[in-house]
Amino acid sequence: MKWFYLSYAVPGKFMGAVILRGESVEDAAEKARERGLSPGGQVLGIEVPSHLPPWPYRNRLLTKEDIDAIFPGGGIRLKDANQDDVEAFKKRTTIICEDCEKGLCKVHQ
Ligand SMILES: [Zn+2]
Repeated sequence: MKWFYLSYAVPGKFMGAVILRGESVEDAAEKARERGLSPGGQVLGIEVPSHLPPWPYRNRLLTKEDIDAIFPGGGIRLKDANQDDVEAFKKRTTIICEDCEKGLCKVHQ
């Protein structure tokens, strides 16, 4: 299995993030739900290298402060990145809509 970073948000608000193992973003999101880690909202998932991040930040709900500790400086903000970087990032990410996350989606089945 691989490690995935799952970021949860509702419009205008970061809800939290979880780093855990799964076969895919969808599988990791399901495991997060089963373990009661999902704070709800739309999920943006991306595979992360297995050595990152450190153990204290895995398999639990992460706050904004945790994220800042993991990624000092906040990483690259998409609006500041060049178009090639944005496209490369989008290709590596999977988005699960809020209703899919609740298991209620009629659009994506
Ligand atoms: Zn959906």
